[in-house]
Amino acid sequence: MQDSFGRKIEYLRISLTDRCNLRCRYCTPEGGIQSSGNEEKLTTEEILRISELLASLGIRRIRLTGGEPLIRKDTEEIVGRLKSIPGLSAVSMTTNGSLLSGRVEALKKAGLDSINISLDTLNPLTFRQMTGSDRLFDVLEGIREVKDAGVPFKINCVPVLGMNEKEIEEIALIAGKEPVDVRFIELMPLGCGVDFTGLSSGEILDRLEAAFGAAEADDQRSSTEGPAGYYRFEGFAGRIGLISPVSGSFCAQCNRVRLTSDGFLKLCLRHSSGVDLRTPLRDGAAEEDLKRILEEAVMQKPASHDFWKDVKDPEEKRMVQIGG
Ligand code: SAM
Repeated sequence: MQDSFGRKIEYLRISLTDRCNLRCRYCTPEGGIQSSGNEEKLTTEEILRISELLASLGIRRIRLTGGEPLIRKDTEEIVGRLKSIPGLSAVSMTTNGSLLSGRVEALKKAGLDSINISLDTLNPLTFRQMTGSDRLFDVLEGIREVKDAGVPFKINCVPVLGMNEKEIEEIALIAGKEPVDVRFIELMPLGCGVDFTGLSSGEILDRLEAAFGAAEADDQRSSTEGPAGYYRFEGFAGRIGLISPVSGSFCAQCNRVRLTSDGFLKLCLRHSSGVDLRTPLRDGAAEEDLKRILEEAVMQKPASHDFWKDVKDPEEKRMVQIGG
């Protein structure tokens, strides 16, 4: 599938649920969100049907997200069934890690190719302040099990002023000690994120260079690495990634669409545009009609998120509902 700007769309993020067991303050409102009702949620069969259709149209990689994807009891089954869809080269997951422990072997057996684990702090008090939860040690145990199982993983951290920004050197040191990519993501002014201030990638790099010496840009990137720019620090076993949706928009290379847990195909994080797939699916639309709906939707993908401009149809959903 190509959109109207010639971008090849081959990456799908599926939000398996809009529920999350954490309340990260820049992501989820304090009292949580009004979760969609059971009737509104896509069933496992519907998620798989849409994935098959999109794979037949050129989607090559799927990332499961949420809410928290591991809140679902059947995440392993979904991974296993997605892996048998012809044309898909990778199925991965983004998780807060707090429910990983005890499930890693089953996810690996189902064929999960890699995991991104969100880790904003190593301090239990800051963790409580940022997420409203005491589950930091569950997250760290989940990471340990992923490592022991040999499932490829990355750590993602969103530095937020007045919360965890003092810890970026300590979090970067995870890549100092282990052959793992630690990625810092600029806080996006979306949903609850508008109430906080993040650090730019430039500021993060300056801080890390002050602590660890000059960084060397790593050009050895594979095509599946997404929008991160990677750096190597002398003596580090792993790499540091900087993801700059705000200071360095990568919209011109955007190859992704998102499926929400209630069956809406979203074309851009910032815009509400997209198409409801649940209704035609439940109305028994023919395969050809569904494919046409998908292809026409992709042609509506906006050129850019335009974070700093007024857009006509700004997205009002929270990140927890979209999946990041
Ligand atoms: N619960 C899972 C998790 O925590 O990874 C998946 C969903 S969460 C919405 C996915 C990612 O979005 C997390 O890494 C989170 O830090 C990030 N995120 C949420 N709001 C954000 C914002 N305003 N700017 C940048 N990243 C954000």
